[in-house]
Amino acid sequence: MRPIIRVDGTFLKGRYPGVVLTAITIEGNNHVYPITFALVCKENNEYWEWFLKKLKDHVVGHDHQFVLLSDRHKSIIQAVPKILPNACHMYCAQHMSLKYGNAKVRWLLKEAANTLNQNEFWGFMLQIWAISEKAYNSLMQIGPLNKWASAFQEKSRFGIIYTNHVESWNRMIIPERQMPVTSLLEGIHANIIRHHRDYRVDGEKFKTPVTKWWHELILHNAWRGRTFTREKFSPTLWTVYGENKTCMVDLNTRSCTCKWWEAMGIPCEHAMSVIRETKSDPYAFCVVYYKRETYAETYKEQWRPTRGKDEWPQDRASRRILPPLPFKQAGRPKKKRKKGKLEGVPVQLRRCSRCKAPGHNKETASNSKS
Ligand SMILES: [Zn+2]
Ligand SMILES: [Zn+2]
Repeated sequence: MRPIIRVDGTFLKGRYPGVVLTAITIEGNNHVYPITFALVCKENNEYWEWFLKKLKDHVVGHDHQFVLLSDRHKSIIQAVPKILPNACHMYCAQHMSLKYGNAKVRWLLKEAANTLNQNEFWGFMLQIWAISEKAYNSLMQIGPLNKWASAFQEKSRFGIIYTNHVESWNRMIIPERQMPVTSLLEGIHANIIRHHRDYRVDGEKFKTPVTKWWHELILHNAWRGRTFTREKFSPTLWTVYGENKTCMVDLNTRSCTCKWWEAMGIPCEHAMSVIRETKSDPYAFCVVYYKRETYAETYKEQWRPTRGKDEWPQDRASRRILPPLPFKQAGRPKKKRKKGKLEGVPVQLRRCSRCKAPGHNKETASNSKS
């Protein structure tokens, strides 16, 4: 599993207020993989510290090295350095963008956060500044740029920058959000079991050394790189003349100056052009997280169904658990996020849905045998 964990709080609906805290990650075939969840009465410092402590004790361990993605809730911001001092805490651009009323600003902000190129980043920021100086200033005050802009990131997020997996996870628990506590927990649990079963079966169908999703992206990059010219400097060091940029590919360090290889964990189009030329094995250059065996390992363990009430351990102190004190739930968000006007409608620059690079679309390598 990629060393990236996303934490979130989701409000409950209906007569039973509360918040579900969740930690998810993304498995080898790019689906959401739930790690853990907990039900608390609200998001505050105490609960977030407790939740992250559990995550440390039972999942990541004490010498953890990973990227923690969050929505910048102030309780998470204060809890991370305290509980998970080695984690690299980054903010979700999707969430950051919701603060801005102007749809163009929201769109530019996401582009700025996603680009791997620092000049491009400043280009997008300049456009934001031209629309709203206030928005620009508030973005610059968020903190160091490496907290949210991929062009400045220190640790690879292996492509998790582009996808909005939290939404698909939230969609999974939404039907349960209005239920009483026990049904809610049973419902989420049942969803997770189903999810595990279906994705485990998927894994048995992979025919390549990496999972289907990444295999398709490798084919795509190979197809994109087929027309590039290259010059050999040493057996592992090449200059590649790409479509609109000239890159240096280093097979030893598994890097390309376009930064895509390091950011995603599989060879970029420039590297694929070298790999084809040298008749190397492209799969040998992929990170272990996308390998078929890693995927099988992910789903090896079965989630067990909860046992019936009569088998639950007895509480010897026979404490009575009282309901939490009533409080007003802060502005409960809508069930589904309102779609921004420009969302899903790229106005300026079309990006390939497969590799997220601008300037071309998802022409597949699979139908053009190359
Ligand atoms: Zn490249
Ligand atoms: Zn593409």
